[in-house]
Amino acid sequence: MSRRRIVTDPDPNGYFGPYGGMYVPETLMAPLLELAAAYDRLRKDASFKRELRAYLRDYVGRPTPLYLAERLTREVGCAAVYLKREDLCHTGAHKINNSLGQALLARRMGKKRVIAETGAGQHGVATATVAAMFGMSCVIYMGEVDMERQALNVFRMRSLGAEVVPVTAGQKTLKEAISEAMRDWVTNVRTTHYILGSALGAHPYPRMVRDFQSVIGQETRRQIQKAVGRLPDVLLACVGGGSNAIGMFHPFINDRTVRMIGVEAGGLGIRKGGHAARFAGGKVGILQGTKTFVLQDRNGQIELTHSVSAGLDYAAIGPEHSLLRDLGRVEYAHVNDREAVSAFDTLGRWEGLLPALETAHAVAYLIKQAKQWRKKDVIVINLSGRGDKDVQQVAAWKKARAS
Ligand SMILES: *Cc1c(COP(=O)(O)O)cnc(C)c1O
Repeated sequence: MSRRRIVTDPDPNGYFGPYGGMYVPETLMAPLLELAAAYDRLRKDASFKRELRAYLRDYVGRPTPLYLAERLTREVGCAAVYLKREDLCHTGAHKINNSLGQALLARRMGKKRVIAETGAGQHGVATATVAAMFGMSCVIYMGEVDMERQALNVFRMRSLGAEVVPVTAGQKTLKEAISEAMRDWVTNVRTTHYILGSALGAHPYPRMVRDFQSVIGQETRRQIQKAVGRLPDVLLACVGGGSNAIGMFHPFINDRTVRMIGVEAGGLGIRKGGHAARFAGGKVGILQGTKTFVLQDRNGQIELTHSVSAGLDYAAIGPEHSLLRDLGRVEYAHVNDREAVSAFDTLGRWEGLLPALETAHAVAYLIKQAKQWRKKDVIVINLSGRGDKDVQQVAAWKKARAS
């Protein structure tokens, strides 16, 4: 790994090294450039930062605790495993850090309507929540298959006053929901802001979402230094689009003693259509506005993906992760469905915490790799969300295995 300082901000065209950019139709260029300019102005604006901080504290419940998991530490055999408790954010996951930031931005831009895509429903719920709080009208696009799998979250969004629109194209999941949200945005851009839910898509989203999620890593830095008097040895996070991971990693990127590992969904194993581990089975391509690692066939057709966890089940990874992987700064691994479900049970039994199935991938990696951790290692896992939303999914998974 080169010792040079890693530049983490994209260039003016939105590139992180060779990745990122703005691969969109002409009609989307103007709204994206308007958004980039507004964000550039507001991220340096003291009153915007103050306002965001206040809502994060009083509404979301930040700072979230950094919890020393004693039983998990003993079982794994390192010095300490800490869990960054994003599951304690209002609505149960890290997603609201970003939804809140973008809703505030939309308000400053004079937009009274917000739209979003959602897969498992967590981002849709977070967006419907802040839209209700700010009195904005809200439309959530969701694949029809996901609506069936996550009926509880559909009910939550509707109870919060959002309109949930079923998307019936293609695989009827997240990718199609993003396309539908983009179509809405092009048509209604004068009144509407599109709150994209991960560090994905065209510039300025990957950078903007990363910045809003970086509060996770900033707090962790302060909290771990207070707890152990130094920086951690290892950071672990699951990687769907990559927002909770980059939010945790970003404030540590130039601390070379801190090892960082992102865990992708290995699904049923690394074979065509069976997983969502972009770095294990993908190659460089373009999907939904950004150049990055994508699961695709020889002709560039997007491959089907699979994961027991809907939040990791997407064919592309955020472009900044592709750069960090090329630089060797972040390592990427994957665990399969079975290991993730098993970690869901284990964390419940050892610590009284049921993690989201996404998060369970990071916990599974910690446990599976117990032999590689040193006695002195201080490890922090980003506990991106709680598992209540997944209990039916886990029950169905176990039932299918038992029969
Ligand atoms: C959405 C979600 C993820 C995956 O998204 P990232 O952008 O990769 O963070 C992970 N964990 C939870 C709890 C989620 O809701």
